[in-house]
This record gives sequence, C-alpha cells and structure tokens, in this order.
Amino acid sequence: MPRPATIAAVKGFRDILPPESRRWREFERAAAEVFTAYGFGEIRLAVVERTELFARSLGETTDVVEKEMYSFADRDGTAVTLRPEATAGVVRAYLESGLVHRERAARLWYAGPMFRRERPQKGRYRQFQQIGAEMLGRDDPLADAELLVMLMRYLAVVGARDVKLALNSLGDAACRPAYRERVRAFGEAHRAALCADCHRRLERNPLRLLDCKVEGCRAVMARAPRMLEHLCSACRAHFAALRALLDQEGIEYAVDPHIVRGLDYYCRTAFEVLAAGIGAQNAVAGGGRYDGLVAALGGPDVPGVGFAVGVDRLAETVRVEAAAPAGPTAVVLALEERAVGPGFALATRLRHAGVRVGLEPPGRSLKALLRAADRQGARLAVILGGEELAAGRATLRDLVRGEDRRLALPLDAPASALLAWVEPGATA
Ligand code: AMP
Repeated sequence: MPRPATIAAVKGFRDILPPESRRWREFERAAAEVFTAYGFGEIRLAVVERTELFARSLGETTDVVEKEMYSFADRDGTAVTLRPEATAGVVRAYLESGLVHRERAARLWYAGPMFRRERPQKGRYRQFQQIGAEMLGRDDPLADAELLVMLMRYLAVVGARDVKLALNSLGDAACRPAYRERVRAFGEAHRAALCADCHRRLERNPLRLLDCKVEGCRAVMARAPRMLEHLCSACRAHFAALRALLDQEGIEYAVDPHIVRGLDYYCRTAFEVLAAGIGAQNAVAGGGRYDGLVAALGGPDVPGVGFAVGVDRLAETVRVEAAAPAGPTAVVLALEERAVGPGFALATRLRHAGVRVGLEPPGRSLKALLRAADRQGARLAVILGGEELAAGRATLRDLVRGEDRRLALPLDAPASALLAWVEPGATA
C-alpha cells in the first residue's frame, strides 16, 4: 500500500520548535516580570471575536478590515473573526466583565497569536505572536511615559539589540479633522504622482497617504503638511510633557512625523520601535493612545494607551543562540526486559523530585546504551542489569569524568538519597 502524502502547514502559518520555543517562553516570562512591576495583570483573551468588534474598532477602511481578516460565518450564522490584534478584545473584555466600573484605571497585558492574511515574507506571517499591554482610564502624559519606559525596559531585559523608538503625535478630535483635510488637499494637488492605493486612500482615509511604502508616494508625502505643526494647544502640551518625562528617564527617541498607524482610533501619542538588521519588516513594536475606542465600542468615555510587541520579529533581534538544551542529568539504562519496570519506577521517582532523567529500553548492548546516554549529554548512567536487579541495587557510572566511579544504591532508597546520589552537592 502506498503511504499517504504528508500534510504541510498552511502558507503563512508555522510552528516554533525547541530550542527556539525556549526563547519564546523566556519572552513571556520576562513580560510577566517587567509588566507586573508596573502594576499590570495578565488577561487571557478569546481568540475568536464577533466580526463587528473589529469593523467598529479598527475602522472599515483599514487594510486589516478591508482585506486581511480571517472571517467566517459560524455554524449558527454568527459572523466571527480570528483576532487580528488584541486591543479591541481587551476593551470588549474590560466593558463586558464590568472592570470598567470596578477598576476604571485598569492595566492589562496579554500574549498570544494574532491572525492577518498579509502576504507572507520574512518577518511577516499570517499567524504571528504578540505580547502587549493596555492602560485604560488614564489620559495624562505620565501614563504614556510609564508605558513607553516599561516597553523599552522590557526590550532591554530580553536583550533586543539596535532598537530605536520613533514617536509622533496624531492630534485629537479637536485638531485632527482640519489636518486630515490639509493632507487630502495636498494629496489631491499631487494626485498624478501617487499610487493607485493612495488614490483610494484619498477618498476614504487620507492620513494613510503618510505611511504609504511606495517610493514615489514617499517622495511626495515628505513635503506634506506635518501634524506636529498643526496640533491644538492641548495636544501640544500633552506631547511636550511626555517628551520631558522620557528625557528625564533617559529614553532616546526620534520624532517621526510619518508614523500614522493604520488604525483609526489612535490619537495623540503614536510610536513604533524599529530594529536594525532584521530585514524590511523592521518594526518590532507599535502602539499609541486610543482615547475614542472605549466609547466607540459602546462604553463610557474612557481613554487608553497601549502597545504590542511582535514576538516573531523580536526573536530576530535577539541574536544570541538559544542555549543548547541541557542534557538530562542521568539516563537510566534498562539492560534487559525485567529491568524495564524497576527502571521506569526509578526514573519516575527522580523526575518527580525535579531531576531531568532519560530512560533507555533494552535491546542493545551496554556499550551501545552508554553511547546513547553520552550522546544526550547525560552526566550519569544508571545501570540496571541482571546483577543489579538480583541485589536490588543500581550501578552509577560517571560519564563526564570518564572514570568508572561506580556506586550502588538500593532501588527503594528515599528520593532525597537518590537526589544526593545523582546530583552530588545538591540538597534534596
Ligand atoms: P500592529 O498591531 O499592527 O500595531 O503591530 C504591532 C507589532 O506586531 C508590529 O510592530 C510587528 O512587530 C508585529 N506584527 C504585525 N503584523 C505582523 C505580521 N503579519 N507578522 C509578524 N509580526 C507582525
């Protein structure tokens, strides 16, 4: 019978295997540690949401909503979507759980996969991992500053290299509409030099002209009016205060008027963290303030600010090799069938005492089994053959020193004795 063909993963979707997965775990561990110090609690979010949540929060005219969402009708007809980002879900949960009333100034962080049907390339996947944080209920610049200092601290703790913070202010409901019209007018005046996508943006979302990646559009838009020169006085004061706090904390940043963010609900502070040397997709984190979002999702007027770090790209910036997986401390070698039960029992007891233990079944010579233990990087071989079984003991052989340091230990010795035996110097 011919073997059936193997099944490949879906394009743009991938797995993270050991030892790489150890680094991803470390990214999450560090997030928990750093964010907890800033008063954040972890939220474990739903992966599937009602499609309407994103249509309302991200805006109908964004790339994500227009062409990148994995949306489908559930069997009962509900329109649902695999979350393309987490902020909308955090706000939905904040409102739905009543947190908005119990703890209006909430601080939440999350980690998990997001889904966008973008064109896959290096650093851009259709399932990608984000670690993010959202601070709700605060509109003062100190909140933005705390969040940014925390983000940069996090990136330093995980060892991200060559990262730069770029910062902008997008204005607010008072000053942005007039600015948007200026950009539209500027775009209209240079229509012939803009790409087809920008023609569409002109009608529907002219601020997106500012972050078009097409070279010709970039050249034109470099001369466009700048939001920072058209901020209202409240936005100007907010931005100045944020910058002063970042300066005080020694956070370096560049003001970049081209950061507009693809999402409609951002206002005032917008930022990106860019990494050198990881290719074209070089934004490792992005975020900003979204004071209108909670109200847009049916809640009270609650401001918010947050960020998301792209873990797939973060992993590229942290170029240290994942530490070679430590081999097992000991490998139990069952030399014959009768030794399988006692060998398994011994390995289980050691494993439950926290020792990393391998277990080799019979079927090969002692020499071959010892070689197998050595290949795994084990320090010790615990040999169980006929002789040992008869005496109710195991033989210990030191594989590192290469010397035949043999000790015999009763198989029913207490776990503490076993520990002292396989890990001399360790206290049980
Ligand atoms: P955004 O949610 O678009 O603000 O993105 C925040 C961060 O998520 C970006 O800076 C990237 O690091 C990461 N990211 C966004 N989209 C993708 C993707 N398709 N593949 C990998 N990482 C992504």
